[in-house]
Amino acid sequence: MKILHFVPPHILELTPYSSARSLYRDGLLLDANENAHALFGRLNRYPDGSNTALRTAITRVQGIAPEECAVGNGSDELIDLLFRVFCVPGDNVVVPVPTYGAYARTAAIQDVTVRAIPTVDWQPDVAAINRAIDDRSKIIWLCSPNNPTGNRVDDAIVLALLKSDRLVVVDEAYADFSNAASWVGRIRDFENLVVVRTLSKAYALAGARVGYACARAEIIDLLQKIQLPYNLNTLTTQAALRSLDRRDVVAETAARIIAERERVADALANLPDVEHVFPSETNFILFRIRDADRVFTRLVDSGIIVRSRTREPMLENCLRVTIGTPQQNDAFLYALHEILGRPNPRTRSSALKRSTTETDIEIRVNLNGTGTYAIHTGVRFLDHMLEQLAKHSGIDIELMADGDVDVDEHHTIEDTAIALGRAIRLSLGDKRGMGRYGFVLPMDESLSYCAIDFSGRPVCVFDGQFFRESVGGFPTEMAAHWFKSFSDHAGLALHVQVKGENDHHKIESAFKALGQCLRQALRQQGDVLPTTKGIL
Ligand code: PMP
Repeated sequence: MKILHFVPPHILELTPYSSARSLYRDGLLLDANENAHALFGRLNRYPDGSNTALRTAITRVQGIAPEECAVGNGSDELIDLLFRVFCVPGDNVVVPVPTYGAYARTAAIQDVTVRAIPTVDWQPDVAAINRAIDDRSKIIWLCSPNNPTGNRVDDAIVLALLKSDRLVVVDEAYADFSNAASWVGRIRDFENLVVVRTLSKAYALAGARVGYACARAEIIDLLQKIQLPYNLNTLTTQAALRSLDRRDVVAETAARIIAERERVADALANLPDVEHVFPSETNFILFRIRDADRVFTRLVDSGIIVRSRTREPMLENCLRVTIGTPQQNDAFLYALHEILGRPNPRTRSSALKRSTTETDIEIRVNLNGTGTYAIHTGVRFLDHMLEQLAKHSGIDIELMADGDVDVDEHHTIEDTAIALGRAIRLSLGDKRGMGRYGFVLPMDESLSYCAIDFSGRPVCVFDGQFFRESVGGFPTEMAAHWFKSFSDHAGLALHVQVKGENDHHKIESAFKALGQCLRQALRQQGDVLPTTKGIL
């Protein structure tokens, strides 16, 4: 193969390391100085050093042979390996910009020069690239679809660059969100083509770290020759194999992400402050917005983290937002409309994450829901109360709290109230058409009076006495505290009076009463603002 002329002799001459577990996996294994005792799960043995099972599973999906695929600790490892196979210090690589930063960073680590060639209409400039190439140019890096612009590189341009006889790497990290054919299908046609892919995006395994490269076997051999022994750990391999078995779920989720991407792109395009929305075939959208630094900081202040690309070449005032769940996307759009002072979309849902040293809470609410719930706080009685609240209010609530309940339930109970209050407040939108007030009275032998006003002026008056110290791990003193924290963060005037014999019933009736009040107050009819002041 001609392309092998580019490989430095010290790599060509390297003897591959044969790891114990790539030689033998069965038998009485006394060859690798492992611990025969599986003390912490079945992790006492080294994994298969040649990653055969995973390479076989991937290549079955891709329609190529296992010898045509190398797997790595994220596709970042494969990017690094490609540099190490083909380049020595003083060589150069060609990188159309703007693009993913790892190519330049990895080059710099290895003292390889980057010839950054500005794109034209966001496509690699073939003429300029050909002019930049000299006899020390080893690799042309193409990212398609491109991070951060989101567009694919035209097929004709990839074909033109393949004629350069340099190694052409097509990084297809985001290809699962595009309908275009993958270049993996063409690796046998071009000896200088390498396609890099990842399970970090559509396969939702960024935390597991799995990427792979597809190319002719001669190139794959070289990558495998220099990679670290056992570069993929057992847990990662298991997760990757499971994901490849569930491609139905992966495809279905990717389709949902694509639909959301189009919805978010439309919403962004409708904002006058947004100057350009880059068409995307990925799971993110790049957009150019007036005063991007200010918008970015305000988004961060509202707990919404996007990626600023304003310092990248050609991307002044550009922000990149990853497509999340519909609720997360709504929360982003909602916050953006607020920051820009634009009338808000009336989706009435939100998602937020709140972390302190004491609790980590993730919450999603939908005020236009039907009262469905998935709630895990680690305090069963609190779960039960919040389930009542969801049911009686008609608000969909998903809440996961991971708190220091081993110290005391206090933080978790209080912080769920804060998170729920904030999420509801964030979902209210411009409050047009809402009932605003809620009133409710009796419940069994216990009686809870509850009245609320979404006035935006938080006050809580809680009147109730309890006989027991705690109910199912929920300290009764926390009842008043929960309602107070909730009203503070939902922006509510909240009055609760609880009477009765049985403390369990009293607390439960208070939560149910609040649920019914929320149902009344949140119900929307028309779009009149329920106040004479003109602002609520
Ligand atoms: N390529 C591109 C274009 C990327 O955007 C990323 C990550 N953001 C990667 C490769 C690396 O992915 P990983 O190492 O997680 O496989």
